[in-house]
Amino acid sequence: MKTYRIATIPGDGIGKEVIPAGRRIMQELARQGGLRFEFQDFDWGGDYYRKHGAMMPADGLDALRDKDAILFGSAGDPHIADHVTLWGLRLKICQGFDQYANVRPTRILPGIDAPLKRCTPEQLNWVIVRENSEGEYSGVGGRVHQGHPIEAATDVSIMTRAGVERILRFAFKLAQSRPRKLLTVITKSNAQRHAMVMWDEIALQVSREFPDVAWDKELVDAATARMVNRPASLDTIVATNLHADILSDLAAALAGSLGIAPTGNIDPERRYPSMFEPIHGSAFDIMGKGLANPVGTFWSVVMLLEHLGETQAAARLMQAIESVTADPSLHTGDLGGSATTEQVTEAVCAKLAELA
Ligand code: ATP
Ligand code: MG
Repeated sequence: MKTYRIATIPGDGIGKEVIPAGRRIMQELARQGGLRFEFQDFDWGGDYYRKHGAMMPADGLDALRDKDAILFGSAGDPHIADHVTLWGLRLKICQGFDQYANVRPTRILPGIDAPLKRCTPEQLNWVIVRENSEGEYSGVGGRVHQGHPIEAATDVSIMTRAGVERILRFAFKLAQSRPRKLLTVITKSNAQRHAMVMWDEIALQVSREFPDVAWDKELVDAATARMVNRPASLDTIVATNLHADILSDLAAALAGSLGIAPTGNIDPERRYPSMFEPIHGSAFDIMGKGLANPVGTFWSVVMLLEHLGETQAAARLMQAIESVTADPSLHTGDLGGSATTEQVTEAVCAKLAELA
């Protein structure tokens, strides 16, 4: 039996609560046999920044390099600028390990009171693929004449042919692996007439490699309305870094709560470890009270297990999660309930034992 080396980075706020819960779930899976994990915990984030002046050590990536996967909580601290926490930790790992595909499944889990009342869980089953290495978040730009009337600033969006091609090919492949074989390519080429036009052209080229995938194009603004009005017309969705960032928050809200949604930052070529995390942030308002919903982390563990090829354990954990969300007495505050992080975690563990 292989021992998987897992790095855990709780980060800030409720990350420090949901990541231990995720680890507890993985230990329970290992206890039941067939799986072995070796964990290493990293205390990077806001507190580390206060002591060392950086969110993580300069050679931090080297400590992660030999891991099979990374489970990440959240980086964000009310006393440190958002762009410092984001670029200093999460984006450093995503870019350092070229995790260029950010995969975000969205489903309405059993028992969840989602806001789209005309929509059944069968009709909202998406996976959003976010370009995760370039585009609007390239970090290229500058600011001049700060504080003066002539002050100016730029954020340059860089899209490379290679970068666009690899994310679109990844999305077509993912669409092909899903039952409906349906892909929507999000664009804004009517207004952004350089990079997004190239994006559209490359989509057409790559589509020829996947004749069995039905695909269409949608403007990002129109896509938001379509997600609300015609959710069943969507399945796999691919978009640029910024567009997918926005669409996936909408998706998470439509599926019931930010506290449920998972994501994987994936290096499809497996040169480096991939990183899995709930999409929510550090949520300092509920920190330290045991109120955080751990389901987003558990679902991220499902994605982590799938990535490692442990599909049976992944399916069993997903089943345990769904049986717990189906019970309203096990809902945390974000879902209108009063269950604690620990109660939800123990319920998932108990269900796992039952399914073993
Ligand atoms: P960050 O600055 O790191 O993004 P944030 O304070 O903006 O963090 P978010 O995670 O973006 O917080 O979430 C917004 C709000 O949603 C939180 O303030 C919290 O009340 C709620 N929330 C988010 N995640 C969860 C969760 N897992 N369980 C319960 N409530 C949550
Ligand atoms: Mg936030």
